[in-house]
Amino acid sequence: MATLVEPPLVTRAPKPLPKKKLVRRQDRDYSQQLRHLFQGVFLALNLYLGVLFYFWVRQFEGGTHMITSRPPGVEGWLPIAGMMNFKYWVLTGNVPQVHPAAMFLLITFVTMAFLLRKAFCSWLCPIGTLSEMLAALGPKIFRRNFVITKWMDIPLRGLKYLLLGFFVWAVTSMSAHALGAFMQSPYGLIADVKMLNFFRHLDRTGLIVIGILVLGSVLVKDFWCRYLCPYGALLGFASLLSPLRIRRTPSACIDCGKCNRACPANLPVDKLITIKSAECTGCLECVAVCPAQGALGMHTIEVVRRKPVPAWAMAAAVAIVFCGIVGYAKASHKWKTFVPDHVYRVLVPAADEVSHPMPGDEALK
Ligand code: SF4
Ligand code: SF4
Repeated sequence: MATLVEPPLVTRAPKPLPKKKLVRRQDRDYSQQLRHLFQGVFLALNLYLGVLFYFWVRQFEGGTHMITSRPPGVEGWLPIAGMMNFKYWVLTGNVPQVHPAAMFLLITFVTMAFLLRKAFCSWLCPIGTLSEMLAALGPKIFRRNFVITKWMDIPLRGLKYLLLGFFVWAVTSMSAHALGAFMQSPYGLIADVKMLNFFRHLDRTGLIVIGILVLGSVLVKDFWCRYLCPYGALLGFASLLSPLRIRRTPSACIDCGKCNRACPANLPVDKLITIKSAECTGCLECVAVCPAQGALGMHTIEVVRRKPVPAWAMAAAVAIVFCGIVGYAKASHKWKTFVPDHVYRVLVPAADEVSHPMPGDEALK
């Protein structure tokens, strides 16, 4: 007769999986040195352009006799003008006369995102570089950087998309005529001067906002980029179509979690096979810290025959896209804004009185 066997009351915990043997990487990782070199050069370039632009503005204010010409590269700080000009160019086929460099730089950085994920954010953007420097202070001052809990992180990340949505809505709702009229209005002509003056004459509110952003960046890695930057949000959308992905090979991975801890975008690199997230900036920090041979790397996707993409190739591609598009704009004489000096002589000293045209304004008709 069959006897019933009582199941044991105590169930044994499953045996832990044997630890995978580490096959240590033989190659020397130089991705971060290369990336920091690009960041340093681009930060220095921006500072140089800023100083030139400051003296250019001061000469119209009578503050200096040093004569400089206006550096068009400062228009990289006018992404909304870049979007407006891009739409104007698509609708009319004409390269805009005012702030065309803003448009070419926008095209450059979006192309970079299509090809190389959000490489602009981690390889070039001066704000991204400053954010990284500030985040490096976190462990020194507070012994660590903080990670915002998921239930707050997800809605906060939505803020940058809301800001982007607002700007896209504002630009798409304007006709080609209104866009052209906006750029030719006093405000459009000296939008760059207004931007400089905002930072030159910071009021208490501006100082408080910048103080909060600085403190946030020390406490949380990529605080501005992760939660507030609409440019980063736009590049994130473009990067979803990029043929590059960080890819982990589970058979080589020893599950040490170093990549996860290093990722400034807080992505679970050690749990996923491929990183498809719009938050991945292609910074290669995860790859740099991985100790296991062949476990992690940037790769092209299957449809373009999965191939590893070394850091030097990433750096070369960033340089080629940047120099290629900017070089084309310069060589074809489409880079510079054409506004006569006598117009600037009137507008620049009175920049603080020039206000933003509103829908329905005569200036836009
Ligand atoms: S997944 Fe890797 S490349 Fe992407 S943001 Fe994180 S650390 Fe950088
Ligand atoms: S760093 Fe990440 S990919 Fe590399 S071995 Fe550790 S867990 Fe695996």
